[in-house]
Amino acid sequence: MEQAVRPERCVVAVDGPSGSGKSTVSRRLATAIDGIYLDTGAMYRAITWAVLQAGADLQNTESILKIAQETSLTIGTDPQAPHFRANGEDVDAAIRGPEVTGAVSAVAAVPGVRRMLVRLQQEIIAAAPRIVVEGRDIASVVAPDADLKVYLTASAAARAQRRSAEDATDVAATEADLNRRDKLDSSRAADPLRQADDAITLDTTGIGIDDVVAQLLSMLNSKVSS
Ligand code: C5P
Repeated sequence: MEQAVRPERCVVAVDGPSGSGKSTVSRRLATAIDGIYLDTGAMYRAITWAVLQAGADLQNTESILKIAQETSLTIGTDPQAPHFRANGEDVDAAIRGPEVTGAVSAVAAVPGVRRMLVRLQQEIIAAAPRIVVEGRDIASVVAPDADLKVYLTASAAARAQRRSAEDATDVAATEADLNRRDKLDSSRAADPLRQADDAITLDTTGIGIDDVVAQLLSMLNSKVSS
């Protein structure tokens, strides 16, 4: 077990592509600092679930934004059990399914949806003493003043391997889907996936989760005690 770090206030931003280990690392880190955990990808996924439920056309950005504005989200931030609800329904399983995964990058590219969710994320961050936030644009847009900014990467093969083990899907199909989403997420006009200039990059290929968490805790320790 890693040594606990418990600063009075701290914000940790964890960005990176799908399958880089963000969720596992962020949850472990949040637990270690006795903080909360915000999965911003799950927020985009929950809105996408509502858009699909409403049968909206994914090309129609106005109708996507309207549905997003009318959706009530319950955002779980307990790192041990981060449950989500949308319009009163438990969506934890549905937001990880292939329909939502296939549509989420299109919904996340709508500027109005991003503005709405970024504002909500900033409110949650401002109200929390200690928080780990994972996503694509946390260090660059959502929390540019974060105490620690980490950009996790891993080889395409390692990322596909991890995701297919988690989701019990075919490795080759998973790798193709990750590449497709990475391309969309990196090339969109609004807040694309990119590494913030002052973020620390950690390539998690071949490194165990324990080691990654220990390295990040030691970085955080030196940041908050310096
Ligand atoms: O992290 P996860 O794979 O659950 O994210 C799902 C999708 O949500 C990403 O592919 C991306 O399109 C979008 N996303 C985003 N900005 C974030 C987090 C996720 O655009 N901060």
